[in-house]
Amino acid sequence: MWSLAQVRNRLILSARMVIADHWPRPGRRDWCPICHCSWMCEPTVIAYAYLRLVGQHQWIPPGSRPSDT
Ligand SMILES: [Zn+2]
Repeated sequence: MWSLAQVRNRLILSARMVIADHWPRPGRRDWCPICHCSWMCEPTVIAYAYLRLVGQHQWIPPGSRPSDT
């Protein structure tokens, strides 16, 4: 059985995966390539809402800053 810390870590990793998947690609900073809508899309908002609960809402995908274009 998973401990609470393990569950928490998995949820954090899942939220990070969602954010990374839906992160805008270089050259299209305000656009979600998955949802095809303006970013931040709803999955990103939900994932960040969770990360905020655990104090990790400052996280962004490595190498994926919109300013890195
Ligand atoms: Zn999206």
